Amino acid sequence: MNKFITFFVAAILSTYSIAQDPILGDPSEPVPTIVTGVVDGKPPSDAIILFDGNNMDSWEHVRTGEPSKWHIDNGILTVANGTGTLVSKQSFSDIQMHIEWRPSAEIVGAGQSRGNSGIFMQSLFEIQMLDSWDNPTYVNGQAGSVYHQYPPLVNASNPPGEWQNYDLVFKAPVYNREGQLEAPAYITLFHNGVLVLNHVEVLGSTFPRVPEYRAVCEPYEIGEIMDCTGKLPLLLQDHGQVMSFRNIWLREL
Ligand code: MG
Repeated sequence: MNKFITFFVAAILSTYSIAQDPILGDPSEPVPTIVTGVVDGKPPSDAIILFDGNNMDSWEHVRTGEPSKWHIDNGILTVANGTGTLVSKQSFSDIQMHIEWRPSAEIVGAGQSRGNSGIFMQSLFEIQMLDSWDNPTYVNGQAGSVYHQYPPLVNASNPPGEWQNYDLVFKAPVYNREGQLEAPAYITLFHNGVLVLNHVEVLGSTFPRVPEYRAVCEPYEIGEIMDCTGKLPLLLQDHGQVMSFRNIWLREL
C-alpha cells in the first residue's frame, strides 16, 4: 500500500500543484526541501499528525470545546455515537491529507444511515464517508462525494469492516479584502488508490440546501458566526453510526 500512497502523492502534486509557478531554464535555486516520504505507512517527515493512535489532543468537541469522548482502542479511534462531531484545534488553508477509515463490519441501517461520517475541509466542505458497499443512496451522497455536489467518478468502496483510505488535495477558497469570492475551493480525492474527484470546483459549503460562499459564515455545527476568509479547522463528523479511524495526517501547502 505504501507504494500506492507514494504514487498518489506524486500524481497529485505533479498534476494539481497548488500555486506552483513554472521555472524555466537551468536554475540552481530554489533547492526543494528534503522530505522523507511515506515509509511503512508512517507519515512524511513534514506532516502534521492529527491522530497517530495514541490520543486525541489535536481535536475537541465542536460546540463545547471539551476533550473528545470518542473511543481509542489498540490505536484505533471510533466514534462514540451521539457524543458529537469533533473539530481540529489547529486551522488550515491549502492541504494534502491522508485519513484511513473503516465502517462497522456489522451492517446496521441503510443509505445515509449506514456507516456515515465525513471529513469537512475548513468546517464547510464535506468529503463524505459512507459504507457504500452495495448500499444505494443518492449518488452525490455516497463515499467519495463532495456532499450533495459531486458523486465520485467510480465507487471504490471496500466491504464493511475493511480499512479504506482517502488521499486528497484541498485548495481553499480565496476572498478579496471586501470579502468577495475571488477563487472557489477545489478538491482532488483518491479513494483506496482510485481517483474519484478530479480537481472539482466546490460550489460552496455543503450543508445548506443551496451551496454558498460567505466571508462571514457559520460553519457546520460550530454554532457561531465567524470570519471564513482565512484558515479554518477540520471537522470529523459524528453522524450517529459506528466509524473507526487511524493514521490521520496532513501537510500544509
Ligand atoms: Mg457524512
